[in-house]
Amino acid sequence: MYRNQTKKIQIGNVEIGGDNPIAIQSMTNTKTEDVRATTEQILRLEAAGCDIIRCAVPTMEAAEALREIKKNIHIPLVADIHFDYRLAIAAIENGADKIRINPGNIGSREKVQAVVDKAKECKIPIRVGVNSGSLEKHLLEKYGGVTAEGIVESALDKVRMIEEMGYDNLVVSIKSSDVMMCVEAHERIAKQCPYPLHVGITESGTVYSGNIKSSVGLGIILHEGIGNTIRVSLTGDPVEEIRTAKLVLKTLGLRKGGIEVVSCPTCGRTKIDLIGLANEVEKMVADIPLDIKVAVMGCVVNGPGEAKEADIGIAGGIGEGLLIKKGQIVKKVKEEELLSTLRQELLDWKQ
Ligand code: SF4
Repeated sequence: MYRNQTKKIQIGNVEIGGDNPIAIQSMTNTKTEDVRATTEQILRLEAAGCDIIRCAVPTMEAAEALREIKKNIHIPLVADIHFDYRLAIAAIENGADKIRINPGNIGSREKVQAVVDKAKECKIPIRVGVNSGSLEKHLLEKYGGVTAEGIVESALDKVRMIEEMGYDNLVVSIKSSDVMMCVEAHERIAKQCPYPLHVGITESGTVYSGNIKSSVGLGIILHEGIGNTIRVSLTGDPVEEIRTAKLVLKTLGLRKGGIEVVSCPTCGRTKIDLIGLANEVEKMVADIPLDIKVAVMGCVVNGPGEAKEADIGIAGGIGEGLLIKKGQIVKKVKEEELLSTLRQELLDWKQ
């Protein structure tokens, strides 16, 4: 797939931009001051496939906690700062691998300059983040409300300000909860900005609506070759964000790895609890490091045929089911043993 070429930026041990793989980000929802809870959550996110993690830094105690958190995690840590430039400086001094600021709410130019100087001294990138909700008054007036042009202009103004301060180790993010406005803003900024873009649909909602809005928005933007890191924002467990992000990238062919589970929609021929089974299979395969397709089909009439494109599958019958490999029936298994049989086959799989 075509990828919009950007500068390469190093964030801790992860390089983004250029032809680097698209990195998956998430944000902790623990109190950053609570080192233990935050570290535990980051380790869970790492295990799920998170590449870069961001923590809110609303207090000096949170900035200081970063130092301890970093000792036990293995992925780059980004500090998210609003309003207080001293927190940004403290976060950098405590080892943040990148900081995310909206220069518009940091205050005077001197305060932004102080943050930029510290980032330069420690050689860490700054993510310049702009949200549709924080658009400046003059841009709202110029464009007659919140628009894609306004968001882009706001972001580019801030990028220019930091460039004028002598720093170009930057990542840019522009966000809107209006999916199509977000798409248009990314199309516009990608043509004008040499820096990697962090892409996300902000305030996208609960796991259900957030997954849909993020998948549609990210799907379009990524398919146009835009975006170097992504975040799926969900009101829920951040581990869900990682699962969705991985599936979005895999669906677009932008990432390999992980078992893909396909299952039939069920119909009048289904005689087993396929909905329960499919959900259990999805959970069961999460820790198996294979890059294959597993089919979970509801009946033995059409199941084997429909599962042909999968590497392995099961098809339910009455009280029993079939184990299928590449469309060929391998054996009959009792319904209650279908899940364990499939798991054993996967554990023994030679790729
Ligand atoms: S695989 Fe069988 S149960 Fe599932 S939708 Fe097709 S015909 Fe119906």
